Amino acid sequence: QTGKPLLEVRDLCVAYGAIEAVRSVSFTVQAGQIVSLIGSNGAGKTTTLRTISGLLRPRSGQILFEGRPIHTQPAHAILGMGVAHCPEGRRLFPKMTVEENLLLGAYTRKDEGIAEDVERVYDLFPVLGERRGNKAGLFSGGEQQMLAIGRAMMSRPRLLMLDEPSMGLSPIMTQRIFDTIRDLQRLGTTVLLVEQNALAALAQSDYAHVVDLGRTTIEGTGHDLLADQRVRDAYLGEN
Ligand code: ATP
Repeated sequence: QTGKPLLEVRDLCVAYGAIEAVRSVSFTVQAGQIVSLIGSNGAGKTTTLRTISGLLRPRSGQILFEGRPIHTQPAHAILGMGVAHCPEGRRLFPKMTVEENLLLGAYTRKDEGIAEDVERVYDLFPVLGERRGNKAGLFSGGEQQMLAIGRAMMSRPRLLMLDEPSMGLSPIMTQRIFDTIRDLQRLGTTVLLVEQNALAALAQSDYAHVVDLGRTTIEGTGHDLLADQRVRDAYLGEN
């Protein structure tokens, strides 16, 4: 990995009171890549994303976006720099329509391209376009996940962070979501992905890190980690 990274996390430590959820997490994301953080439940992946977004403050360590420290910045400023976060559990507004949810994703923007970007989301996810006037709460899990990704795209992020996009989805829907993540990469978006579905994530990742008990441990290309016996034993369900 060469060149200045888009995102650099250096020796991050984040605690909830006495609970050190993240003890030492370090990794970089190069522009244009899909990078995954994989690991067991409770390893500290969600906490890491929430800290990058500015929703939590680190106890120590640094987070640099394009070489500038952002861990001291408020969440809205980090979003304004182009870091979007699609949280676990989706957090849509169920009583609002598809289109209203998408427009909320663009609330930091003042430019003319918003309507065009709504159409781009509908091109990517035709089912959302067909039902643009329907309330978000009536959609299936997979459709709500598409809407959550679409809403995050509406801020025109440079870095899109997705927390467990495959959670609760069928294998077919999971494949569709990962295909979409690839499409977003082709459109120029850098993606940081958190997944418990290590197999699906590694297959689509340029680079990946294992997070274990609050620490980054093994790293490599998605291809390398899929072949790594330690990863296979611990995370790919081969015992
Ligand atoms: P998951 O996939 O289950 O979300 P994760 O790797 O994303 O797992 P985190 O959600 O970051 O892990 O949680 C890391 C640790 O911090 C866990 O032990 C969890 O119980 C703890 N934790 C998370 N949120 C809080 C909180 N608000 N208060 C106290 N402890 C928390």
